[in-house]
Amino acid sequence: MSGVGVSQTPPKFRVATVSLAGCFGCHMSFLDIDERLFELIEHIEFDRSPLTDIKTLGQCDIGLIEGGLCNAENVQVLRDFRAHCKTLVAVGACAINGGLPAQRNHLDLATLLADVYRCRPGMSSGSAIPNDPELPLPLNKVRPVHEVVHVDYFLPGCPPSADTFWRFLCEWMAGRTLHLDHDSLHYD
Ligand code: SF4
Repeated sequence: MSGVGVSQTPPKFRVATVSLAGCFGCHMSFLDIDERLFELIEHIEFDRSPLTDIKTLGQCDIGLIEGGLCNAENVQVLRDFRAHCKTLVAVGACAINGGLPAQRNHLDLATLLADVYRCRPGMSSGSAIPNDPELPLPLNKVRPVHEVVHVDYFLPGCPPSADTFWRFLCEWMAGRTLHLDHDSLHYD
């Protein structure tokens, strides 16, 4: 008789990650869970991520977003992630409040671009600001991800520590919410 006495392995959680306007430091910190990755991989499988070569985003249980929004492509990618992930996590200061890239927010974008492309040593005043239609349009201000889509969880830090990633994912897989104490906040 089929199915009697046969223990079924629960399906793995499908996980996607992405880096928007970030530095990949949050991804590096995630990988710092080191050998616990072997235990994690017993319970999850990766979908599209800088850690895989998967080109198309599938339907995922959870998406981890590193980085904020500095251009139109970031917004498009974020909306796509929200549409494909049941649970969305803003990971790190850049995703949560714009982080380091948001330091440009008090400057006028046109002035900033002119300064970078025309006024720097080695650049002539006749240099063109890149405007190829293939390039994503920069936003006037760098924005946190929750200003554009609903975010279910926030993992603070720059980057969040490896232990924070580990504890968060363990609690989430168990159907619980991790409550971070002050000592677990990590800013390098
Ligand atoms: S939060 Fe920090 S480590 Fe993460 S992407 Fe931003 S600058 Fe990099």
